[in-house]
Amino acid sequence: AAAGTGGGLVRYDASLEQRLTRRATIAADLRRALHTGELYLLYQPIVELPHGRPIAVESLIRWRQPDGRIVSPADFIPVAEDTGLIVELGAWIIDTACAQAAAWRQRHGADALRSVAVNVSARQLLDPALPDVVAAALARHGVPAAQLTIEITETAVFAGGRALATVHALSRLGVSIALDDFGTGHSSLGLLRTCPVDAIKVDKSFVDGLGGTPQQEAIAIALTGIAETMGLRTVAEGVETAEQARRLFELGYRQAQGFHFARPLPAADIDAMLPDGGAA
Ligand code: C2E
Ligand code: CA
Ligand code: CA
Ligand code: CA
Repeated sequence: AAAGTGGGLVRYDASLEQRLTRRATIAADLRRALHTGELYLLYQPIVELPHGRPIAVESLIRWRQPDGRIVSPADFIPVAEDTGLIVELGAWIIDTACAQAAAWRQRHGADALRSVAVNVSARQLLDPALPDVVAAALARHGVPAAQLTIEITETAVFAGGRALATVHALSRLGVSIALDDFGTGHSSLGLLRTCPVDAIKVDKSFVDGLGGTPQQEAIAIALTGIAETMGLRTVAEGVETAEQARRLFELGYRQAQGFHFARPLPAADIDAMLPDGGAA
C-alpha cells in the first residue's frame, strides 16, 4: 500500500513493534533472572496509627539487571503474567517472604510482626496448585499461616471461575486475605459477600482526597465504616503526608502504609525497626 505516506500509521506500527520487542526482551531476561539472583524483595512497613510503629510489612519485588538498571514491577509483572512465568516467579516470592518472616520471628520474637504480605496476581489465582505452594512454603520455614497475608485484587478474583475457589482454599489454610486497591473496581463491595476477606487496603486515590471537600473524603469515610461493620482490618495505602495520617486517625483508621512512614526497604532496615533489632 501507500507505505510512507501515512506517517501516523507508520509511527503507530513502529511503536507497537517496539512495545512487543520490549516485552519479548523482558520475558527472555526474566526467565534468566529467576536463576541469577537479580530479583529481590523489599518490604514496606504497615504501621499502627497514630504513632507509626510497624506492625506488618508488604513485600514488593524488585529486579536489578546486570547493568544496574532497576526494572519496575509495573513493567515486568504483566509480562510474567502473559508468559506464565508468574507461576514460578510467584512461588519464589512466596518462599522468599516466608523465609524472611521466619528470620524475623527468630530474631525479634514470634509476635514482633503480625504478618508479612505478598501480592498474588490473577494468573496465580488460576493455578489450582497455589494453595499447596503456600502451604509448603509455610511448613518449610515454620511460619504460622496466620502470619502470612495474601494480597489479591478484585480483577484477579474475577479472572476466572477457579480464582474464587482458590481464594477460599487459601483462606482455609489460615492465611489472611487482603483485598488490594480496594474501592477502585466495579464491584468491590459485592466481593465482600462472596470472597473470604480479612482485610481491605483502601486505595491511595481515596487517601489523596483527605483534607479536601466532603465529596473528596466521602469514600474513605464510607469504606472504614463498612469495614468496621464487617469486622475487617483496614489499611490505608499511599499515605504521603502527616496531615493525611492525622485525618485517617480522626476518621477511625488504625493502620496505614505509605512514604510518609517508610518506603519499601531492604529486610535489614526492617530488622532495625523491630525490638532488639540491629543489636546482634
Ligand atoms: P501494589 O500492590 O498496590 O503496591 C503498592 C505500590 O505503591 C508499590 O509500588 C509501593 O512502592 C507504592 N507505594 C507505597 N507507598 C506509597 C506512597 O506513599 N506513595 C506512592 N506514590 N506510592 C507508594 P511498586 O513496588 O512499584 O509495585 C507496583 C505494583 O506492582 C504493586 O502495586 C503490585 O500490584 C505489583 N507488585 C509488586 N510486587 C509484586 C509481587 O511480588 N508480586 C506481584 N504479583 N505483584 C507485585
Ligand atoms: Ca499490594
Ligand atoms: Ca495497593
Ligand atoms: Ca496497585
